[in-house]
Amino acid sequence: MDDGERYDAVFASDVHLSSAHPSTTEAFLRFVDEAVAGRTERFFILGDLFEYWAGDDDVEDAVAQVVVARLRRLADSGVAVAFMAGNRDFLIGDGLAAAAGLVRLPDPYRTRIGGVDLLLSHGDALCVDDVDYQRFRGMVRDPAWQEAFLARSLAERRAMIAGAREQSEAAKREKAAAIMDANDHAVGDLLAEHPASVLIHGHTHRPAHHIHSVDHAPRERWVLTDWDAEARPLRGGGLGLQHGRIVTIDLPDPGA
Ligand code: MN
Repeated sequence: MDDGERYDAVFASDVHLSSAHPSTTEAFLRFVDEAVAGRTERFFILGDLFEYWAGDDDVEDAVAQVVVARLRRLADSGVAVAFMAGNRDFLIGDGLAAAAGLVRLPDPYRTRIGGVDLLLSHGDALCVDDVDYQRFRGMVRDPAWQEAFLARSLAERRAMIAGAREQSEAAKREKAAAIMDANDHAVGDLLAEHPASVLIHGHTHRPAHHIHSVDHAPRERWVLTDWDAEARPLRGGGLGLQHGRIVTIDLPDPGA
């Protein structure tokens, strides 16, 4: 990332902010300062910004407060900050969006920026081989389920989320890695539905640039990195749209 580089848009996902990993919060705030502010007018957060979200009344969390304040400042400076729900923070609602100055996007979301057709998604809907997860996703994305869940006390919700996360971690250890990746046919179907677009998604934690052949045409799929703070302190980054191309943006080492 050179000084003065500008982007038509910046994309990030799977930051997994939580009070348990302060270095991730530090890295994300630095990313906003160094790669977003003053460098772009459009910042897309494609899900799993937070490790989990129990509801917009869960605001006592210090990490949430500092991140919300920073995003608000970014939005107030004229940057359009957009948020798409991930599988962990899908309960982010209008309350948090208003506080942080976020525009909420449906998944998938199509837009044209700098002459490029973009198709944005969190990515979990593409992991169709994980049948158990897709069943769970169908349940928790149902507005009636969400309304009933949010009607519970915050303490109850936190406890239920902790239980669900434990179950999900245990289930993940049993699942083959391929099951938790995007399914090629699901990707092909999505690209065929949205001709000529470049797909950007996260979720799988397998950052890559794929070329798919769809209806005999080469199609690009970019997978965003996660921000694995435990393994690589202060590592993070995203993608940028620059001169009609997608480029990777790595967070430089502090002080570098
Ligand atoms: Mn995810």
